[in-house]
Order: sequence, then structure tokens, then C-alpha cells
Amino acid sequence: MKPETIAIHAGNFVKSATGDVTPPLSLSTTYLRDENGGYPGGHMYSRVSNPNRSSLEQLLTELEHGAEACAFSSGNAAGMAVFQALKPGSHIIAPDDMYWGFKKQLQSIFADILTIDFIDLTHTEGIEAYIQPNTVMIWIETPSNPLLKVTDISALSTITKKHNLILACDSTFASPCLQNPITLGADIVMHSTTKYIGGHSDVLGGALVTAKADDLWARIRNIQQIGGAVPSPFDCFLLVRSIKTLPYRMRGHCANANTLANFLAQHPKVDAVYYPGLTSHPQHSIAKSQMSDFGGMLSVLVKGGFDNAKTVVNNVHIFAQATSLGGVESLIEHRASVEGPDTKTPQNLIRVSVGLEHIDDLIADFDQALALIN
Ligand SMILES: *Cc1c(COP(=O)(O)O)cnc(C)c1O
Repeated sequence: MKPETIAIHAGNFVKSATGDVTPPLSLSTTYLRDENGGYPGGHMYSRVSNPNRSSLEQLLTELEHGAEACAFSSGNAAGMAVFQALKPGSHIIAPDDMYWGFKKQLQSIFADILTIDFIDLTHTEGIEAYIQPNTVMIWIETPSNPLLKVTDISALSTITKKHNLILACDSTFASPCLQNPITLGADIVMHSTTKYIGGHSDVLGGALVTAKADDLWARIRNIQQIGGAVPSPFDCFLLVRSIKTLPYRMRGHCANANTLANFLAQHPKVDAVYYPGLTSHPQHSIAKSQMSDFGGMLSVLVKGGFDNAKTVVNNVHIFAQATSLGGVESLIEHRASVEGPDTKTPQNLIRVSVGLEHIDDLIADFDQALALIN
């Protein structure tokens, strides 16, 4: 089936006595046993599993063409479950512009447990030189945050298969509708469901989908169920509801971002636009081959420095100045000031999450803010 059909039907397998057409919200924390000690409803205790979470996990599994999924209470908890599942002393390779929250996690919580090389994974040729005897995993993020770099998933999978490594892919910017890393050879796909999957900036969550239910996956499932960083039934209910419109929302995000990127790329007050859909993007051809469209995120380098970037983000009216992404409303952010003093993000970079407002209004708003800088 196609994503539009999966999105609407794959989470609806929960049977209810009242004949609900959509899955009801099931808040019970505990479930009845039968006289033999079994659980006729298939659930025992809601940290271990519950109907709404099973519905979400089934839906994500099908959308990503995987074997199983684990839902978590945040994207950070999902990523952390992968790092926790690795043996202490393991070495991992991660992108130099890895999502800031994961980089912080690895450098603080895992500082004495794992060793990490942060490298530019867009240059596939140089990667093998970093593989050590204790290397177990390459973590990629594509498109990346906030530079919108694109990593060649198939090429990376050739390397990880040759060296018997895990390939994990943070696919948050793409959503399951634009790219399916498992079909390109990844072992694990990670999403912050807070972003496009939730899509309305009102639920925090994360998920992992695996290509196969192997030993690593058993350790991850154990971390989910025994570690307990699980989403609530209501979070899962909201996500299943949101996913029904995900394929159509993604079309709108992609169309608006593409038009805005082209407008900004021609604008005299703009130095550069990072958007994988622009033919000027260094990995445009890879993006074209592994994604069905180019997403709703772009970054723009305005002429001048910090002050000009601040002027623009402080003077737009429709774009809300806030972090995060993937919601129906457009967001704008001066990324370097969010990341703090040790950031490598350029001071004139503005990150934009292009929402579903009318594109003419978005362009007019950006244009009047750019007119204020010199
Ligand atoms: C937001 C985000 C995360 C972290 O997810 P949370 O839900 O905020 O914990 C991880 N990776 C990327 C690319 C993100 O944008």
C-alpha cells in the first residue's frame, strides 16, 4: 500500500466493544488476567505495552517498511535508547553537525561510556579511515540540522555492511513520507515524533524503527520497557491521529519550502540558502535519488552578521520566533544563539520551519523583514 493509505489504516487495528471506527483512548494502566494467568487483551501493564502505543508502533513500522517500532517519550529518549544498547567502550561515528541535543547527550551522559568521532559524513570516501576495531555504529542524520546537509544512505550502508556495523539514521527532517532509510540499507531509523509526525506542536515524542528484530533490538525494547521513558496513551493517540494527514501535510510543507527557498535564493539581502531542493545544493542529486521530495526545512544566511539575522527574526509577523519544527505554523529561529557560545552554526544563519500558511503571505512577511536590513 501507498503511504496515504497506510497512514489512515495501519494504526486502526485496535478492536473495541463499541465498534469504534478510530482507536479509542485507552487510559488503563493495568489489564485483566484470565484464570490461567494469561492476558487475553494482549497487554499486562501500560509501561510494557498498551493499545494506543501498539497502534502507533504498528503504524510507524509500516510507514518505514521495518520489522518493529519502539515509541518513546521524546526524540532524545529514543536516541538515548540506541546509545544505551551499545556495550561500554564502543566507538561510534556521528555527523559533525549532529542534532545538538544528541551531541550534548554523547558528550555529557556518555562521556565515560562511549567514544565518538564527529565527522563530515557527506564525504563518503573519507569515512572508512575512522573505523576502529571497537567501532560498532555509524549514526547519520539526513537532511541535517541546521545546515541541511544530505548524507548518501545507500553508500553509508555499503560501508557499514562491509565492516559489520550498525547504521542508524535520524530521519526527523524527512519524516517517513519523504524517505525510508530501511529500504536504503539502514538498520535503525530514528524520529523525533515531536516534529512532522506530530505536526501541530502539541506533543513530545520519539520513535525507533528497526529493519530486523535482532539482539540489538531486544536490548532496545528492554530499555524502552524497563527503562520506562515511554509516551502516554494520550501522546500516542494524538500521534496516530496526526499521522493520518502526514502525507498531505508533507506535500504542503515541501511545496511552500521550495517556493520560499527559490524566492530567498534570488533575494539581494541573502548570501546563501540551504535547501536540498535547490539545484545549487551540494548534495541535490543525492537528495533527489533518496527522497521523494525535499522537506519543509531551510536555512538562510542573510547579508551581514548577527545583528541583521536578529533584525529579521525579530520583525517577521507570521513566522513565530521559536525553536522546534514540523508544525502547521511557520517557525523562525536564530540558531546560533539557541545553541550557545560553543556553536559552529554561522551567526547570520536563520533556520526556518516552513508551515502550511499561504505561501504568498509567507513571502511577503519575509520580504518586509529583509527590507529592514542594509
Ligand atoms: C528535535 C530533534 C531531535 C530530538 O527530539 P525531541 O523530541 O526534542 O527530544 C532529534 N533529532 C532531530 C533532527 C530533531 O530535530
